[in-house]
Amino acid sequence: MENIDCEKFDYVIIGAGCAGLASAQYAARGGLSVLVLDVAGAGGQVLQISELENYPGVFPAVDGATYMMTMQKQAEAFGAKVVQAQVISIDKTGGNFMIKTKKAAYEATCLCIATGAIHRNLEVPGEKELSGRGVSYCATCDGPFFRNKKIVVVGGGDSACSEAIYLSTLSSDVSIIHRRDKFRAQQAVIDKMLNAGVKPVYDSVVKEIKGEGRVQSVIVENVKTGEQTELTTDAVFIFTGMLPQTELVDMLPKDPAGYIITDENMETSVPGLFAAGDVRSKPFRQVVTAVSDGAIAAHVASERIRNA
Ligand code: NAP
Repeated sequence: MENIDCEKFDYVIIGAGCAGLASAQYAARGGLSVLVLDVAGAGGQVLQISELENYPGVFPAVDGATYMMTMQKQAEAFGAKVVQAQVISIDKTGGNFMIKTKKAAYEATCLCIATGAIHRNLEVPGEKELSGRGVSYCATCDGPFFRNKKIVVVGGGDSACSEAIYLSTLSSDVSIIHRRDKFRAQQAVIDKMLNAGVKPVYDSVVKEIKGEGRVQSVIVENVKTGEQTELTTDAVFIFTGMLPQTELVDMLPKDPAGYIITDENMETSVPGLFAAGDVRSKPFRQVVTAVSDGAIAAHVASERIRNA
């Protein structure tokens, strides 16, 4: 990368999910020059939500893609620039941040990491081989292929239970396999899932996904008895948690699960460097908390820039 101009912004945000775009909107509306960089364009995990039903004030529910498109338009309407590009390095020189992509370089007074998290794999035989052939990590994307078919969901958190609810609208034969006897999800979500007729398989793990060219069954082991059974299914939807995307800022202090530690202003141990949304260490990861993180980071960055 030679002889490329370096564009300067007050505030650069890496990640155009709901934390990043909320931060962009607040910062741009507050008068900062704002750039958002994202390798895949606007969206993030919210794109996989079929019905966003718990965001206060958004009622009736909207789908994640519509919600994110509106967020991007809103941030851009206040003057934020959203660019699709992969950031390859971040440096701090002379008090400012230097952000490089393959084709461009940017300088920022303040920088916000809003890179979110990606899904965790189950790491069992058959998972990789049958991925896209019945193994899926996105119910909204792949659920309609399995209308009126047998469906297995793996996991016990909000994602697994929410997506099982959605899948139960497509098929009356949805089972959810969870490794403990209690779901981790919010109680309202669990109740709704059980009322929708999703069949819970407690204290059990998937040991193998089997099939010739497409998913045909899973081997399930009861963790208390060790007994293994084969459950026929057409699809396996895996929602076993997330891995924070922190590669660009590996030097920052993180919690034991790998999430970036910030103070209540969303500021990391590096002055002017913020983290917002699912990449940050916190007790509750929701769209509403990601948006809140983004707004706080933008507000504190604005104050910092104004008082410099
Ligand atoms: P999560 O809350 O970390 O849940 C992951 C689930 O997968 C847990 O139940 C865990 O079991 C299970 N698990 C982990 N590794 C496993 C393995 N190797 N084999 C079998 N099971 C395994 O992740 P999430 O559901 O993706 O949610 C991530 C965050 O987003 C959460 O903070 C959640 O509240 C939020 N979220 C909110 C909504 C909503 O409000 N509508 C929707 C989606 C996500 P254990 O319980 O035994 O640990």
